[in-house]
Amino acid sequence: MIYHQNHLQLSNGNKLPKIFFFDMDGTLYLGDILIDGSVQFLNMLKNAGIKRVFLSNNSSKNRKDYYLKLKRMGFEVKVDEIFTSLNATILKMKRENIKKIFPLGTPSFEEELRENDFILTDKDPEVVLLGFDKSLTYEKIEKAYRFLKGGKRYIATHPDILCPTEDGFIPDIGCFISMFEKCTSRLPEIVGKPNIEMITNILNHYSIDRNDAVMVGDRLYTDMRMAVDAKVISVLVLSGETKIEDYEKSNLDVDIVCDSVKDLFTVFPL
Ligand SMILES: [Mg+2]
Repeated sequence: MIYHQNHLQLSNGNKLPKIFFFDMDGTLYLGDILIDGSVQFLNMLKNAGIKRVFLSNNSSKNRKDYYLKLKRMGFEVKVDEIFTSLNATILKMKRENIKKIFPLGTPSFEEELRENDFILTDKDPEVVLLGFDKSLTYEKIEKAYRFLKGGKRYIATHPDILCPTEDGFIPDIGCFISMFEKCTSRLPEIVGKPNIEMITNILNHYSIDRNDAVMVGDRLYTDMRMAVDAKVISVLVLSGETKIEDYEKSNLDVDIVCDSVKDLFTVFPL
């Protein structure tokens, strides 16, 4: 069901956008359960030659982990269609010529940083990089604390407070950010959603106008905040954590509100 739909004005004179950004959990699937219509809609875009980008703020997994998960669930996807908050952070750090990092992250997180030629070190790093570290230890907390007190640059991949899983929500990086704020009074630079760089970097890369881009997601304070700030077409799906009452209470004005990705066949007919 479609609750609300603005008149869409695309700049390409066509009926269809050129690129779709999708949040994954709560939008395409819930944990390990596919949301009805998601594989079919994504296939339709692929067959129509429309670009698709799978976005995730969750930096406890890397893009290869997501690739394997999406394949297993039946999506036809390539690794470079997947973009996590860590990938956005890597672009930023390369652009700013950062090399030496003290990471707080999972083995997958560290693997992707090494593959991108960063030096991971606890000796005089340029940056303390906080990820969704499910392997966080007191030793890492203590070292990060000393670097932060010593004035090292501080970057976090994303701001989410909780992460949805099949067994309910679990504490995400936002809780670690609060812990370090408590002991150092510092807050990090945040890269992932709702920072618009998560999508503007990609739009610039493909030279696509923001009016030809769609962001589909289930979370108000990350997905929809970013879509509205980046001025792309915003689609809120109610298949994840947001209820229609939450949207009505929020101060966000999105372009389309619908039950799930399945409704997009009606909004964007081929
Ligand atoms: Mg989500």
